[in-house]
This record gives sequence, structure tokens and C-alpha cells, in this order.
Amino acid sequence: MKIVAGLNLNSIKPRVWDTASPYYLSDLDAVMVSYAEFHQNRTRYRRAIEEGLHTSLSVPKHVKIYLDNGAFRFSRAGGEVPRDDYKAFVKKVKPDWYVIPQDYIPTPCMSDYKQNKCLEKTMAVNQEFSYDGYVPILHVSRRLNKYIRLFNEDEKLREKSIFAIGGIVPNLLRAPKSMSYKKILNSIYKVRETFANQKLHLFGVGGTATLHIAALLKMDSVDSVGWRVRAARGLVQLPGIGDRSIADLGNWKVREPTSQELKKLEECQCPACQKYGLEGLKANRTFGACNRATHNLWTLLEENRMIQEHIKNKTYVEWYKEHLHNSTYRPLIDQIVERSDTLK
Ligand SMILES: [Zn+2]
Repeated sequence: MKIVAGLNLNSIKPRVWDTASPYYLSDLDAVMVSYAEFHQNRTRYRRAIEEGLHTSLSVPKHVKIYLDNGAFRFSRAGGEVPRDDYKAFVKKVKPDWYVIPQDYIPTPCMSDYKQNKCLEKTMAVNQEFSYDGYVPILHVSRRLNKYIRLFNEDEKLREKSIFAIGGIVPNLLRAPKSMSYKKILNSIYKVRETFANQKLHLFGVGGTATLHIAALLKMDSVDSVGWRVRAARGLVQLPGIGDRSIADLGNWKVREPTSQELKKLEECQCPACQKYGLEGLKANRTFGACNRATHNLWTLLEENRMIQEHIKNKTYVEWYKEHLHNSTYRPLIDQIVERSDTLK
């Protein structure tokens, strides 16, 4: 499973993909950028067109660049992604991976009627852009079964090699009427089962425990900006457990690390901790945020490496019981392990 690090081009540091940066992470092989950030900044847009995405962002060629349409950002401003502009941008800059120009994200509080409208409109875009390398999107929602049926019925979509699954973030945020974790899990499971030959990308997975779920459900790639968002809030991620608050940057109701967890952090092998230690993680302003973000992304990459290794060696079942102490997701992981016949 590939971890795709979501970037924010307005605040580009830490440059974890840059071999010249003290925060360079050699295991990182893909980043995701949003079209919305090119649309809003014409200099950035022009440079990408003229120099290509990799050169304009100084991303080395071995790191793949994924392009998200930014539909969520546009919708917050009451608009939609300008499709022709997006299309022209994709054609010019040739990202390594790119989704359809627009999807309509169903939120849990929408009525069935409204969720169905989102589905119909997203399906229309999926079908219009079923040529070329555009990655079609389906959303985890109460209408998922219909999505699966329509994808199955459409010959061109069925031939696509990659699908992206969206819509889990509003559900994970536990908004009113959110789907239960179990239902979300079953939905993703169903998509995996139905489309066994497609590569599946899951949008918005950024915690160490949710990484286990994505890997066990055989996702091929996941992306998240969580490593940066958590860092900006003063939070650090730790292998196998939830987030911990290390710098007091607001009331996020997150536990502080225990003395044992602090010891773990002291021994952390990530470039930020190796260079600046615990004080670096506790620091404020950009310096602290860069250290925490690097630490968080390194932790995700490392957690993923361990998960894959244990699955491959058939040692996952014994390992996760000792390793994973997350109270929210642990029961769900127990369930997936229970019904899996390939892990043992
Ligand atoms: Zn670290």
C-alpha cells in the first residue's frame, strides 16, 4: 500500500520530498496536490504549465505527483471546479495520477434524496471522463450499493484500472447521522470484493490505526493531510496508539504523552527527532510544526512498512495484538482479522 502525503502549497514546509532538506524522507514516493491551489494562485498555475509539475514544485521525478480536483474547496466557496480549466491543466502538466474534474460529496446529514442527487451528478462526470487516465470516484454513503451497480453496468468504467473511494472523512468526523464505523468498513469491504482487479485509492486516511484498516481491506493507496494538520495543532502520532498533544497550541482535548510514550519519542528514528529531539517536537511556530509534521509522516510510513511486512510474513495476527492500542478502531480491526482467511 502506498502512502500519498497530502501537501498544502501555501505552506510548503517541511520539504519532506527534497533530498537537500533536513526533513527528507527517503521512503516517501508520492505526494498529492489540489487543483484548487493552482487555480487560486495564477503564478503557481503558470509555472506548473511552463515548467511541469515536478520542476515547478521541486519534487524529484521518483516521487509521483497525485492531483486531486479540489472539489471540496470549491464547494465551500459555493462553486464547482472549472472543468475545462482542469482538463487543460491535466493535459499540460500530466500528473502521475489524477481524478475526474468534479465529484459531489454526500455528507451524512443529507437526505437520501440529496445523497442520490450527489451520486447521479458524480456518475455523470465519471461517465463523461471515462476515457484517458482520469480516475473515477465513488463515495461511501447510504447509496453505495447503487454506485457499485452502476460501475458494474458501465463497460468503460469497469475497464478502468484504478478507482478512488471518497466520502469517508465526513463520516469519520462523527457528524450527526454519520454512518457507524462498522458500516463504513463494510462499504469499503464490499467495493474491494466487487472490484478485485482494480487498484483502489482511499481518500482521507491519516491515523496510524486507520492505516491498519486500509491495509487489511487491501487498499492500494491512501492519502491524507492529517500529518500536517495534526502537527499544526501541536499533536504527534505514535506507532500503534492514537495522537498525543506535545505542544500546547489550543484546546484539542488530546491526551499528553505518558512518561513511557515520551521515552518512545526520545528514541524516535525520524529525521526531525534525530536532529532536534523532544525539544524540536515541543517547539512552537514553523520550526515545531515542521518537526512534528516530519515526525508524523515518518511514523505513518514506518507503521505502513511494519504492517506490510507482518502481513507478508503471516505474523500480523500475533503482532497487532501487542502493537495496537487504539480503543476506537481496535474492535473493528479485530473483526476484519476474524473474517480474513489470508492473514493466518
Ligand atoms: Zn520522530
